[in-house]
Amino acid sequence: MLKITDLHAEIDGKEILKGLSLSVNAGEVHAIMGPNGAGKSTLGYVLGGRPGYEVTAGSVEFDGKDLLEMAPHERAAAGLFLGFQYPVEIPGVSNVQFLREALNAQRRGRDEKPLSGAEFLKLAREQAAALSMDAEMLKRPVNVGFSGGEKKRNEMVQMGIIDPSLAILDETDSGLDIDALRVVGDGINRIMRKPDKAVILITHYQRLLDYVAPDFVHVLAGGRIVRSGGPELALELEREGYAGVAA
Ligand code: ADP
Ligand code: MG
Ligand code: MG
Repeated sequence: MLKITDLHAEIDGKEILKGLSLSVNAGEVHAIMGPNGAGKSTLGYVLGGRPGYEVTAGSVEFDGKDLLEMAPHERAAAGLFLGFQYPVEIPGVSNVQFLREALNAQRRGRDEKPLSGAEFLKLAREQAAALSMDAEMLKRPVNVGFSGGEKKRNEMVQMGIIDPSLAILDETDSGLDIDALRVVGDGINRIMRKPDKAVILITHYQRLLDYVAPDFVHVLAGGRIVRSGGPELALELEREGYAGVAA
């Protein structure tokens, strides 16, 4: 599904990704762990096509297509979803408006008919209920005044509505209490644990992986994947820290 080969990327002339390679097949959950400043968020931004990040070498194939040639909205329409470490607040735009526009923009990109207001509301209410999110929150401006946990939960509602084929979730567990962590973990499993979908979970901690069991764990350090293994690698990292494992 995703094949990253020898990816080099820089921001403001500073090279952050330095030859990163990673392959993800449909049906797999990959965890990426690594020290602060390793380039984990940069990887997410580069895959999403965020402006300012320049790819200087390497390739990324997504479902057989050259991802780096695609505009950000084309990547989204092709099934890529990014969950951010710091979800943005959008004053003046309600959650429902935002989610409906996001979904319908992607449907148009795939030559599918946009959902009507009523169809969309039904879908949004279902997804909110599945995440135990009060439907009233759908009417509020996107993320404005939401707690950290509510923002992450809202992001999972968004993911459920968009129904992507590949989700890259950047520290989705940060700032969550134990109950919210379980709700979000259940949401990831429910929406994404399917044979035709894949997930890349960027996380510092084992605790999210207790809920969303990874098939593979990678250590990103210094802009590259320096170690890969199974779920036991995350436990080893938790015990020994990055210094021991990534060296
Ligand atoms: P991680 O998510 O692994 O903690 P990031 O991808 O956020 O790491 O950052 C990787 C490195 O890129 C860090 O050293 C960070 O300071 C640097 N960096 C991020 N954004 C910029 C920028 N706009 N200009 C220069 N350096 C940046
Ligand atoms: Mg960080
Ligand atoms: Mg980060």
